[in-house]
Amino acid sequence: MSQTAVDLLEELTQADAIPGHEGEVREIFHSRLQGVGDIQKDRLGSIFCTKNGSVTSPRILLDSHMDEVGFIVQSVTGAGYVKFLTVGGWWAHTLLAQRVNILTKQGKVSGIIGSTPPHLLSAGSRDKVMDIKDLYIDIGAESAEQAMEQYGVKPGCPIAPYGPFMPMSNPKLFSAKAFDNRVGVGLVIETLQQLSAHPNTVIGAGSVQEEIGLRGARTVTVAAEPDVAIVLEGPPADDLPGANSNTLQGKLGGGVQIRLYDPSMIANPRLTELTIETATAHQIPHQIAVRTSGGTDAGAIHQVGRGVPSIVLGVPARYVHSHVSIINIDDYRATLDLLLHLIPQLDSTTVDNLV
Ligand SMILES: [Zn+2]
Repeated sequence: MSQTAVDLLEELTQADAIPGHEGEVREIFHSRLQGVGDIQKDRLGSIFCTKNGSVTSPRILLDSHMDEVGFIVQSVTGAGYVKFLTVGGWWAHTLLAQRVNILTKQGKVSGIIGSTPPHLLSAGSRDKVMDIKDLYIDIGAESAEQAMEQYGVKPGCPIAPYGPFMPMSNPKLFSAKAFDNRVGVGLVIETLQQLSAHPNTVIGAGSVQEEIGLRGARTVTVAAEPDVAIVLEGPPADDLPGANSNTLQGKLGGGVQIRLYDPSMIANPRLTELTIETATAHQIPHQIAVRTSGGTDAGAIHQVGRGVPSIVLGVPARYVHSHVSIINIDDYRATLDLLLHLIPQLDSTTVDNLV
């Protein structure tokens, strides 16, 4: 197991990048890929690195969204508590007593998500899930003035979950916030660093604002003008107590997840076939996903221009959209391995034959 991958994932997950404020991840992307290819940005904040192979076309887009689900300051109460809105999908069960970082002009301010405690609630409401709009963030301020003037916490400040990088007793498993989608960003970085001979041009992208509606994916695709796209994700793992074993589709340690269908996109059938054949030929562990719900950047990418044949590869993570997701590093390695075998096959004849 490469320590490089673990170190890279630690650095990426500990960066704070909620939608519209992806700067910390963008800087890591830039510094790790400087000298590997030509680096450009678009006007929404997405970044891409173009690595030329032996020929200029076809153009292969390797996309990963840089943002993570977070929050935004809506207001500060007179007593100095912070009211917030969610930015991206959160489940209220996961929020109480969690730590967050509020990003201000004066730096990061630590806070705790709180609510009216059970002993102050009526018997009826005590057993219900708290409504997110009834929660607040406690930053330890004594007044609105102290929160806003001294600490710089003002309406509009982005708020990121705090979730340290934690190796687990099983040496293959790691927990941290934001594996959705820092696994994808790490894979784009490592693929571009390691790819040598390839009969195409590869554009590795870190896109913005996926968690609120695939917004960066659209502008990235216009800028990159790809002939084919591979989207890298950290999709939910289903190997949990209570899950339906008949539809279990994301197992930690099951290998790279190849997503054939979700409500946002149907994978290109010939690209799917080539991907599965490649994984099988090189004995790369893989698992297939046909998802009832969810969507990825591919939902936007495949519809841009005259259309872009696309596929989604994922490193499944338990507890995505929380402070404590878990991945198996072997699945990340399998995905990297598959990319390094798949991309060199995407020459102009093969790509022309996808459609
Ligand atoms: Zn994601």
